Amino acid sequence: MLEFDSVEVFYGKVQALRGISLSVEEGEIVALLGNNGAGKTTTLSTASALVKSHSGKVRFNGADITKAQPWTVVGAGLIHVPEGRRIFSTLTVLENLQLGGYLVKDRTAVAKRIERVFELLPLLAERRAQQGGTLSGGEQQMLAIGRGLVAGPKMLMLDEPSMGLAPLIVAQVMQVISSIRDQGTTVLLVEQNARAALKVTDRAYVIDGGVTTVAGRAVDLLADPRIIDAYLGA
Ligand code: ATP
Repeated sequence: MLEFDSVEVFYGKVQALRGISLSVEEGEIVALLGNNGAGKTTTLSTASALVKSHSGKVRFNGADITKAQPWTVVGAGLIHVPEGRRIFSTLTVLENLQLGGYLVKDRTAVAKRIERVFELLPLLAERRAQQGGTLSGGEQQMLAIGRGLVAGPKMLMLDEPSMGLAPLIVAQVMQVISSIRDQGTTVLLVEQNARAALKVTDRAYVIDGGVTTVAGRAVDLLADPRIIDAYLGA
């Protein structure tokens, strides 16, 4: 569904991606693991056309999106939930969700998707009139994910959804990600919390220095000494 073929990205003279190749199949949850500065966020930003690649190809659903515009990518159903939640703190939960459907012409479809988000995340339904900025960190993360769902994704890309959250809340976020896939949306997940991510993902890639260094099924990676030593602790 999403494919990167030898993608290179530069920020000025800094080369962030040095030939990334990876693929995500329909119905999968795939994680990108790796340390700070490895190139995980840049990979997502390249897919959503917020960053332009220097060379290589990016394909989504059979279409070449290497030189596409961000709104074309959104229209094709590839939705990026950026790091740091970035909800609108003075708008209500409902208004934040409505903004997720900003580019969708069919308002009935948007209303239906918001109802589905409320079924998936009942805590947002209870707080629909509350200002986004007054939600807890975990609730804000759920809102950011919910807003992504209102855009009608075929594939949802989530950047560090566990960041700054307590372990119990991280587990809840991972459970929500699992439910999203069960309801038919493919997920590409960037995580520094490898242990939490590998529990819900089918496959993962480790990115290091702008290239993928290890790739495999989550069950195999959980037992791989290279992953245990570098990303899972003893
Ligand atoms: P983190 O988990 O810390 O966000 P990451 O794996 O997502 O790390 P990226 O944010 O993709 O890594 O960064 C990859 C490299 O590109 C880093 O060396 C970073 O300093 C550099 N970089 C990222 N964004 C920019 C930018 N806008 N301008 C210049 N360099 C950048």
